[in-house]
Amino acid sequence: MYKINDNYLKLPEGYIFSTIAKQVASFKEKNPDKKVIHLGIGDITQPLAQNIINTLHEAVDEMSHIETFKGYGPEFGYEFLRDAIVKGDYKSRGIDISVEEIFVSDGINSDAGNIQEIFSVDNKIAVCDPVYPVYIDTNAMAGRTGNYNRITKRWSDVIYLPCTPDNDFVPELPKERPDIIYLCLPNNPTGSTLTKEQLQLWVDYANRIEAVIIYDAAYEAYISEDNIPHSIYECEGSKNCAIELKSFSKSAGFTGVRLGYTVVPKALKCGSVSLNALWARRHGTKYNGAPYIIQRAGAAVYSKEGREEIKKQVNYYMNNARLILKGLKLAGYSAYGGVNAPYIWWKIPKNITSWEFFYYLLENANIVGTPGIGFGPQGEGYFRLTAFGTYENTLDAMERIKKL
Ligand code: PLP
Repeated sequence: MYKINDNYLKLPEGYIFSTIAKQVASFKEKNPDKKVIHLGIGDITQPLAQNIINTLHEAVDEMSHIETFKGYGPEFGYEFLRDAIVKGDYKSRGIDISVEEIFVSDGINSDAGNIQEIFSVDNKIAVCDPVYPVYIDTNAMAGRTGNYNRITKRWSDVIYLPCTPDNDFVPELPKERPDIIYLCLPNNPTGSTLTKEQLQLWVDYANRIEAVIIYDAAYEAYISEDNIPHSIYECEGSKNCAIELKSFSKSAGFTGVRLGYTVVPKALKCGSVSLNALWARRHGTKYNGAPYIIQRAGAAVYSKEGREEIKKQVNYYMNNARLILKGLKLAGYSAYGGVNAPYIWWKIPKNITSWEFFYYLLENANIVGTPGIGFGPQGEGYFRLTAFGTYENTLDAMERIKKL
């Protein structure tokens, strides 16, 4: 009889956001008259910017003419988009990344999950705790994380890097030596970041111990403070140890149309083996490219008009973030993040778990947030709110929280 990949059986029940969606659906069914405000899943609410929409229309029209119709595209992405990325995200910051180092994808959830495939199952991973759950879950599916303890909520073979108010959410170099280090900065869910000097310490450490860093920069567009790196490649030596993931989802409102990219520098080698070549082999075999029309829309993000429009959207969400942060503090809570990221990390009262708080908030204020425990053991005692709602709903949510 065939066998399944029984690593899947070790995973904790349900992906957090699917569990939340089910709970919210059941609440709405029982309470059809209640207006529920969603500040849970990190999905944007503003429509695509006009310049991007215009480009999408143009690209769709091209598909209807034999002269301009496009079938399969180049496997690593159209040159026009890879070139725009290189110029817009790297050269403009004085970073030397070439087109051959950019791999376009349908968003970085897939890349964050798939990148582990090019590494041996024997590698040990280190992750910030709390963090976006995809890194651990996909390594668990591959059999790299040992066993899950349902009481402590920890995997036996994962190095956890606690990020708490005690260390200002700055992960410390671990005592045990990791092979693959996941860094998500600005961080989801805590909204914290590292300064360039703090990130440089991690780059130096990775080079010293011959580890690789997977750097998830999904929220780079939300950085508002100086001296916060927008790319890990701002750090010296990083091209020898780091892969960077960038998404159009939160920077340009592409959660529904799907676009992202991964940078694997040519200098990144495991012994004599090029990781760029390995990822190219994997991507070329298992992926057939993001749709042409979406890549055209992606290139429009780098136009002058596109940039201005998406900057306005980022500002819109960051205004919500300020509102939430201020509102929680005025209501007497401790809250973090919200300055360089669209997430607010809310310290909840001590006598309640983050799932209990989820139900409490849903039932008493009809607000959906995300229980901190869903992001790792250190997330217990916290709750994540997102700034991706509409301004009106965010305002309403803060009024409701004040009245609790
Ligand atoms: N990485 C982080 C840290 C995220 O928070 C998210 C989505 O919320 C993703 C990656 C997924 O991005 P994409 O929409 O490009 O798949």
